[in-house]
Amino acid sequence: MDKDNLNNYKYLFLDRDGVINEERPADYVKSIPEFIFTDQALQAIATLSHRFQYIFVVTNQRGLGRGVMSFSDLEEIHHYMLSEIEREGGHIDQIYFCPDLDSVSVNRKPNVGMAFQALRDFPDLDFSKSIMVGNSVSDIDFGNKLGMYTVLVGDKYPQGHKIYENIDAYYENLYKFAENL
Ligand SMILES: [Mg+2]
Repeated sequence: MDKDNLNNYKYLFLDRDGVINEERPADYVKSIPEFIFTDQALQAIATLSHRFQYIFVVTNQRGLGRGVMSFSDLEEIHHYMLSEIEREGGHIDQIYFCPDLDSVSVNRKPNVGMAFQALRDFPDLDFSKSIMVGNSVSDIDFGNKLGMYTVLVGDKYPQGHKIYENIDAYYENLYKFAENL
């Protein structure tokens, strides 16, 4: 198949921090007031929900493993996130998160465990028909290992950084990606 023909892709994986909500540099999103949607993310997810068969969130949440927030804090944040998304007409099929501290954890991106959790839950999923959108090297490496189409968003890396050699597309944010599909 033509990798660059985006009509071939039916499934979408989204990183959370820096994609759906603003990243908190050197900190974690520990409470609902700290969860700020990125510009027009809700409209973007509504648009993407019509376009993709499944949308998954895959998020490293080391703050859990470090004890700076609890599982119930994360649950509250995700309940808030999903209710705002649904109110705007969007839908997320499942959220996968990794609390592990250790980078060798199979579930911690760039390792691919969370994708296989999704495959277990949604057996018709096909990674080669999936797009991964993230704002970090670990997201891009995760997507590339799985043969996904990889999209970088945000401004974490300066022009000329080697990440730009490893991505299939770049957009300023999730909304610009959704708008250009
Ligand atoms: Mg991120």
